[in-house]
Amino acid sequence: MSKTFETLAVHAGEDRDAEHGAVSVPIYPASVFAFPNADEASAIHNEERPGYYYGRLGNPTTAALERTMAELENGEAALAFASGMAAVSAAVFSVCRTGDHIVAPASMYSTATNLFHFLKDHFEIETTFVDATNAENYGSAIQSNTKLFWTETPSNPIVQITDLAAVANIAKASGITTVTDNTFATPYNQRPLELGIDAVIHSATKYLGGHSDLTAGVLAGNADIVNTARQKASKLFGGNIAPQVAWLVLRGIKTLALRMERHNENAFALANMLVKHPRVEAVYYPGLESHPNHDVAKKQMPGFGGMIGLDVGTIEAGKTLVNNLKLCTLATSLGGVETIIQHSASMTHATIPRKDRIAAGVTDGLLRLSVGIESFDDLQADFEQALEKI
Ligand SMILES: *Cc1c(COP(=O)(O)O)cnc(C)c1O
Repeated sequence: MSKTFETLAVHAGEDRDAEHGAVSVPIYPASVFAFPNADEASAIHNEERPGYYYGRLGNPTTAALERTMAELENGEAALAFASGMAAVSAAVFSVCRTGDHIVAPASMYSTATNLFHFLKDHFEIETTFVDATNAENYGSAIQSNTKLFWTETPSNPIVQITDLAAVANIAKASGITTVTDNTFATPYNQRPLELGIDAVIHSATKYLGGHSDLTAGVLAGNADIVNTARQKASKLFGGNIAPQVAWLVLRGIKTLALRMERHNENAFALANMLVKHPRVEAVYYPGLESHPNHDVAKKQMPGFGGMIGLDVGTIEAGKTLVNNLKLCTLATSLGGVETIIQHSASMTHATIPRKDRIAAGVTDGLLRLSVGIESFDDLQADFEQALEKI
């Protein structure tokens, strides 16, 4: 039976027979699993037979999360990590070696940008940063040593959209691996693997967990990439998720479809309210017809997500807005049930030189808004009263 996303989100990863009928996946805290005899020990140890033996290398609770994410992303396999950045670095190190070349967006999650700079300084893996709103820029940046196209769409923090099918086509013609950071969209709003992308990563800290109460990451995609990550990155660098946290992510995923439906609705309505407000200079939301890549977003996303970028002009105006919002929380993360706002220029990007910050799309008055699942009327009223103070 082919299942809808809503049904999969509730039931994916279940193995009731193996778990005595437990309706909630049990948490296995064990870091060590015993073998019945020497031959079994040898077979499991050498991966001739499936089985668990040591915490860093696999756990039944973690495996349930991995099966769930493989199903939700429609991928062959998945691997869970202790953070989104552990998933990002595992993906990169599984694909690239010294001397290789990466193409990545000029505007994206800033810690990923910093990782790519670090790779150049420490491992001679160089990255060309391109305007990812035009897929052809990936093709133009190809060198003989290009191994990886990194994409992040919608992107952090200005919600840019990359045409994933177009990037995947360019990559396939040149034997280049493609990875998408699917954190902002979640598989409810976008399934990159179905568009030809080889692997996705998630910061499960955000929408998958959904309650601002855990840190985790996931890699999902083609079996060869995920298996390399399992055999190499995960095994050698560590970064495995704790089974207790894997269980919390699974708990979050059960309501992912419901939450995303409301995030989509609230953000769409709020973006349409903000775009008409005289104190707001710009609104970045892929669901707005004024968004430069609205057509691409419509093609590859059934919903436009809960993330909005808005610009109120100056650092002072940005600070005044966040200081006067009463319902919206001033904080740096996103994807939780509560509405969170961040003023990037005075927070995440405060130590970055202004010129570099603006080049990455972070203007003085830019705010990143993660629209929660509260009542839209309350959110609208909060913004109306706070915008009056600017
Ligand atoms: C938060 C985030 C990450 C990093 O995830 P952590 O769980 O904080 O390590 C990566 N990509 C995007 C788009 C994010 O928002």
